[in-house]
Amino acid sequence: MDERLALDNAREICLAASRAGMTVTLDMEDHTTVDSTLGVLRELRDDFPWVGVAIQSMLRRTEGDLRDLVGEGSRVRLVKGAYAEPSSVAFHGRHEVDRAYVRGLKLLMAGDGRPMVGSHDPRMIDIALALAAEHHRKPDSYEFQMLYGIRAAEQRRLAADHTMRVYVPYGADWYGYFMRRLAERPANLVFFLRSFVSR
Ligand SMILES: Cc1cc2nc3c(=O)[nH]c(=O)nc-3n(C[C@H](O)[C@H](O)[C@H](O)COP(=O)(O)OP(=O)(O)OC[C@H]3O[C@@H](n4cnc5c(N)ncnc54)[C@H](O)[C@@H]3O)c2cc1C
Repeated sequence: MDERLALDNAREICLAASRAGMTVTLDMEDHTTVDSTLGVLRELRDDFPWVGVAIQSMLRRTEGDLRDLVGEGSRVRLVKGAYAEPSSVAFHGRHEVDRAYVRGLKLLMAGDGRPMVGSHDPRMIDIALALAAEHHRKPDSYEFQMLYGIRAAEQRRLAADHTMRVYVPYGADWYGYFMRRLAERPANLVFFLRSFVSR
């Protein structure tokens, strides 16, 4: 990836977002892109301190990254991770990834930033709520995020007293984006089909 080009384009997006009173959160792609994405984040935050980033609990490096991202004003979307990664860099078993997710939640909820809980997993959501209470967090100091169309009733329930942000792919390229996401990891197809039949 050309980091300079990414940074220039991201700056334009952030400028438009700040004019519209919105925020921007950087997606995270596979593990080879983490250093450059965090580099872009650092540069953007000099001018736009509200820029956030997605961090994947499945990556072994994540706890270290999170420790650098728990300061005041830091916005972190904690997700499990959607990529098929080698075991040299990532946890593989579901329980290992979940345990790493909980460790990430603990760091974020204890920190001074704004945790963004990017998961549909009822257990992770319950644990996030319990940790927020334990750290005396106000409901407006953290938020939940889910994909459009998945667990819509749960989204409405959480929205009653929290920010519940919904991720919506849009624009002319949404189909290519969607197919890439399915191709990256077979489990994504199961995830999508389950949400389709459970609506
Ligand atoms: C806002 C957002 C942004 C994201 N951005 C990124 C990113 O930048 N990079 C990246 O790698 N990944 C990203 N992801 C994807 C993420 O990494 C996971 O692959 C995805 O969210 C699935 O993991 P999960 O935590 O939701 O639950 P899973 O571990 O997939 O599911 C756990 C449990 O959740 C419940 N559940 C799941 N789906 C349903 C359903 N349809 N109906 C009922 N219960 C269900 C079930 O109990 C299930 O057992 C993002 C996800 C979200 C929500």
